[in-house]
Amino acid sequence: MEPQIKNPLIIGAGPAGLTAALELAKRGVTSRIYEASGNVGGLARTQSNGDFLVDSGGHRFFTRYEKVAELWNSLLPPDQWTTVRRRSAMVVHGHYVRYPLVGRDLLTQMGFRRGMRGLGSFLWSRTRRGMQPAGDSASFRAWGTEEFGRYWYEMFFDGYVRKTWQADPDGIASDWANQRIRSIVWHLRKRFDAADQDVFRYPRRGPGQVWDAAAAQLAVDGIVPALSSRVVKVRFDGQEWTLELHSGELVSGDVVFSSMPLRSLVRALEPTPPQHVRAAAARLKYRGLITVAVALRGRHDIPFHWIYTPSKSVEVGRIQNYDRWSSGLAPDGWDGTFLGLEYFIGPDGDVYEHDDEHLTCIALEDLRTLGIGDSDVEQVMVVRSPFAYPICDAARDRNVARIRNYLLRNYPTLRLVGRNGMHRYDNQDHAMLSAMHSVAQYFGDDVDPWQVNTDRGYHEAGLLKKEVGL
Ligand SMILES: Cc1cc2nc3c(=O)[nH]c(=O)nc-3n(C[C@H](O)[C@H](O)[C@H](O)COP(=O)(O)OP(=O)(O)OC[C@H]3O[C@@H](n4cnc5c(N)ncnc54)[C@H](O)[C@@H]3O)c2cc1C
Repeated sequence: MEPQIKNPLIIGAGPAGLTAALELAKRGVTSRIYEASGNVGGLARTQSNGDFLVDSGGHRFFTRYEKVAELWNSLLPPDQWTTVRRRSAMVVHGHYVRYPLVGRDLLTQMGFRRGMRGLGSFLWSRTRRGMQPAGDSASFRAWGTEEFGRYWYEMFFDGYVRKTWQADPDGIASDWANQRIRSIVWHLRKRFDAADQDVFRYPRRGPGQVWDAAAAQLAVDGIVPALSSRVVKVRFDGQEWTLELHSGELVSGDVVFSSMPLRSLVRALEPTPPQHVRAAAARLKYRGLITVAVALRGRHDIPFHWIYTPSKSVEVGRIQNYDRWSSGLAPDGWDGTFLGLEYFIGPDGDVYEHDDEHLTCIALEDLRTLGIGDSDVEQVMVVRSPFAYPICDAARDRNVARIRNYLLRNYPTLRLVGRNGMHRYDNQDHAMLSAMHSVAQYFGDDVDPWQVNTDRGYHEAGLLKKEVGL
């Protein structure tokens, strides 16, 4: 017999929470959504200040999953999507070096001696590893040294990973690296351009446009996420769930789909879970992200969308060049330069530690050091994301499995969805698919949300080409 869901509650109005609500609505079930922040879209929201729109992380839309592509297509009409051929670069020794790394550039762009040292180190590491892929258990440093050779690893990846993870690369697991970091492209075919491979879609007004459209679609069915409604307690009395909001309001339902960070969920659970589960949750870590979006009146023609800045001379880890993502992110007719500088905060750091003024000074100083300058600043906007990255350390799988098994055994009507909800390094499509599978599984379909995003291959390989019009 099909299980009954009469009164589902959803925690979080990011991609996972909104997708869960849409899936439930398709099955004729009305949910209630509680969102801590003042926006829908979660990490993939678009934040605005006047006509300047900020994407906190440069969200590419690509997927291998038909169901996800169909949902995106149903939410925004074709004229609201742009197709972007991403070009990325790393700024090293004052040079913009294309990323994915291209062998020819590495050998020529930074001088003969550096090129030869890099090649020697690369060939040595390849000989040592016997052309076998690095094992998943390797640290990031071991993985990077094997993949790129010590010299190029240290030049391009060590400093960047230290900044983004705020940790020593020896202590970082490498299982995400095969998914996220591309190998060197050796320039075998004539006129091959690595950037041609990196094509994705992007909503004209940033990723949040899709999630605003999802909220609008839900509103047609009378489902309106309750914003500024942080869930502080998640109680189960044996039959019914009660969420306590920070305002003190109580709401009850029969099933909960939670995309709030798993660590916070375990802390909020009543009855309190046993010590070993609480200890496992306490060991889950997250990194934060601060995006400082700077609009400069002067025009700087930077021919890249993403610029990685591994150098120690600047604090910024990566820069988004918004003009390249979509002209819709800046006011009509804007002819300046609009950049998003990303600052990564470690697991013990606090994204609220510094005020906007201090962050603005750092960002402008970094722009000066990089030679982009801050002569004529039109506007600065700071966007903080405290739970930007669930950390994949060596103990992560064990801790998550311990919590998941406990919750599944004791609370079958509590379903975890999404990136922080399941503590995985998900893209939007994974977060959405986990929500789709979670709802479907609840209705008895033979799918498993925990099987989403478990493959180790490079994420963009095999993405749906037709979806980007290729
Ligand atoms: C820098 C960066 C770049 C990225 N680039 C890409 C990309 O190129 N392509 C891509 O597809 N994905 C990208 N992602 C990943 C994408 O942002 C996430 O996969 C996606 O947003 C996850 O959706 P979610 O709903 O699971 O979680 P979230 O987006 O984190 O949403 C969770 C929601 O829950 C709310 N919440 C938390 N706690 C509570 C509580 N106690 N009560 C109520 N609400 C709560 C939060 O406020 C949030 O709105 C990027 C992420 C980052 C940080």
